[in-house]
Amino acid sequence: CGIIARIGHGNATETLLSGLENLEYRGYDSAGIAVQNGSGVKVHKCSGQVSDLKSSLEGRPHGNMGIGHTRWSTHGPPTDENAHPHTDTAGDVAVVHNGVIDNYDELKAELRALGHEFESDTDTEVIPHLIDEYLGTCDDTERAVRRAVDTLEGSYAIAAIVDGEERVYAARKGSPLVLGLDDSEWFLASDVPAFLDYTDEVIYLEDGDIVVLEPDSYWISDLEGNPVDRSVDTVDWDP
Ligand code: GLU
Repeated sequence: CGIIARIGHGNATETLLSGLENLEYRGYDSAGIAVQNGSGVKVHKCSGQVSDLKSSLEGRPHGNMGIGHTRWSTHGPPTDENAHPHTDTAGDVAVVHNGVIDNYDELKAELRALGHEFESDTDTEVIPHLIDEYLGTCDDTERAVRRAVDTLEGSYAIAAIVDGEERVYAARKGSPLVLGLDDSEWFLASDVPAFLDYTDEVIYLEDGDIVVLEPDSYWISDLEGNPVDRSVDTVDWDP
């Protein structure tokens, strides 16, 4: 029920965890993060509270970029396996998702027939597998993400990271997603309080937007790949 993503210089984990805590008011039953560093994408997740996730971590996983999630179950009970982030079979693509994928059943059957193995009961898990599948046929990840998103029916705010890439990919349709712009780091979240400790400069994304964040740049496009211009707002948030 809440998404946070962060990319920049320095460690992302503390920001992801505090972002999840600031989204706690939305209600949730599970929490998780995935960070990327020199040794791949590392997922940490569990059913329960953000405090349970924090105490399950040994130290603070290192990585300058990552994604985080608080889950409000719609497909599958609140178990550790069903908590987000979800990954593809090899664990190279990690995804957090808010919303409901209506055509997940047929996508799951198609992906299974192609050799993909699933570990959860969620609708969400088809997304990293789809991205992985399209990575095999597209020459770049942004196109694979766009194609995967185009295949989904339903509502979603999604953030994804891919092993070996210093990028966060995101998309939305029918679920909120806000981009936060600080001097030295970018954020994505379901709602502004997730990153308000760091910045009040935001871009409210719209349905059909695809976002790519790199440590020093970001760009927004539509499902066809055309650049999209969105204005930067300064939030006047009265907690
Ligand atoms: N439908 C997804 C699930 O059940 C996402 C739920 C949410 O928005 O937190 O895992």
